[in-house]
Amino acid sequence: MFVAKDFQELYALVSGDQTIDDIGASVDCGIRCDKHCCRPGHTSKYLLPGERAFLEDALAERGDPPFGFASLGYFETIVEPNTRACACEPLRDLRPFNCRIFPYGPRIEGTEVKGLQKGNRKHLEPCWITTPAPMWEKDAVQAWQRILSDEDNLVFFARLATLWEWNQAADRGEDPGHVLVALASLEAASPKERWALCARFFSRSD
Ligand code: SF4
Ligand code: SF4
Repeated sequence: MFVAKDFQELYALVSGDQTIDDIGASVDCGIRCDKHCCRPGHTSKYLLPGERAFLEDALAERGDPPFGFASLGYFETIVEPNTRACACEPLRDLRPFNCRIFPYGPRIEGTEVKGLQKGNRKHLEPCWITTPAPMWEKDAVQAWQRILSDEDNLVFFARLATLWEWNQAADRGEDPGHVLVALASLEAASPKERWALCARFFSRSD
């Protein structure tokens, strides 16, 4: 599992300009969409295994916490105050990994992250950015490779993938069996199978 040093290095990798204009100037993508992804209720930001403890420790030293935490069962999330759109404005350097990388997931081939891809889901339509800045993209690919090379992180995303596939099957009217059986099968999955699950998860669309 990632420890504080891993999170610090991970955050450093994806703290640059995610979006730039034609002349290479930084673009605040939230202006056009009124910070859609940061508004409470629009998205649920996952925390990686160990990230909540890391952030709680870091926030305890800083005061005025910009967000709270909650468990959504299979993952921990941040809870944003309704009173401001961007909870992390006071402490932007402590925004979670998911906030830094959104809306780009990894494009996976085998056990390698080959690039980035943007999720194609209806509730994210106000998100207008499609092309990451080249330098940021290079570091983000490295960040995803590092994340998924950690066993706990790989299992974390494979678990989300299993739940998503279970849910999709139920929505199609199929009998996907009990969710706990589906999750138990994950325990027996090989690393290669877990990577394959993650690849499907990050390629999902509505
Ligand atoms: S990442 Fe997308 S949804 Fe979030 S502020 Fe930028 S453009 Fe808007
Ligand atoms: S921590 Fe910041 S970037 Fe992340 S959802 Fe909240 S306001 Fe947006």
